[in-house]
Amino acid sequence: MLLKTLREEVLDANLELVRRGLVVYTFGNASGIDRNEGLVAIKPSGVPYEELKPEHMVVCDLEGTIVDTKLRPSSDLPTHLELYRQFPNIGGVAHTHSEYATAWAQAETPIPCFGTTHADYFHGEVPVTSSLTSDEVASDYEKNTGTVICRHFAELDPDAVPAVLVAGHGPFCWGPTVSSAAHNAAILESIARMAYYTLTISADAPLLGATLRDKHFFRKHGKSAYYGQEKQK
Ligand SMILES: [Zn+2]
Repeated sequence: MLLKTLREEVLDANLELVRRGLVVYTFGNASGIDRNEGLVAIKPSGVPYEELKPEHMVVCDLEGTIVDTKLRPSSDLPTHLELYRQFPNIGGVAHTHSEYATAWAQAETPIPCFGTTHADYFHGEVPVTSSLTSDEVASDYEKNTGTVICRHFAELDPDAVPAVLVAGHGPFCWGPTVSSAAHNAAILESIARMAYYTLTISADAPLLGATLRDKHFFRKHGKSAYYGQEKQK
């Protein structure tokens, strides 16, 4: 089977979205990329999660040409491909309609960084895109969703902010691997819920101070990271 390990990782990431309660029925999808082969594996469209097997994952190139499997890919595939083309370091993408993150997307409001849980994963607020124009919706909608995300990241580092809220739709998350993308989707939902509660308790809750924010982000990410165990060489 072509890309057996990647297919297994992609299947597991899709199931992780379900295990974490981020997906209702089939409203979610995760994909992973093999950068050496230039091939992406993604969940098929509309197949119930409990029936999914590694061989059901659809493999295609970066232009969306399917090279294996008879099933149709998730309809959001063109969004995933645009992210892979524009964000060279990412190895996986996860999309859900998880409840709190989607509520922020529907309110078209970025998620402010109120605490260190947020700062451990996302450097600064989680942004919300502009709305798609009628033309962008009418043709190539899914690809244009990716274009709108990438346009928003022209001034942002996608490796430091591995998630976005698409206005009126929901979150897209990414990471160096497909499992990290699914992990970030779960963390995003958690910090979206915490931020909602924070504002419910106090509408004037302060943002996390920049020094503490940077401390938490950079102790886990980048050249000076020291959190956790040393990586095996
Ligand atoms: Zn969606």
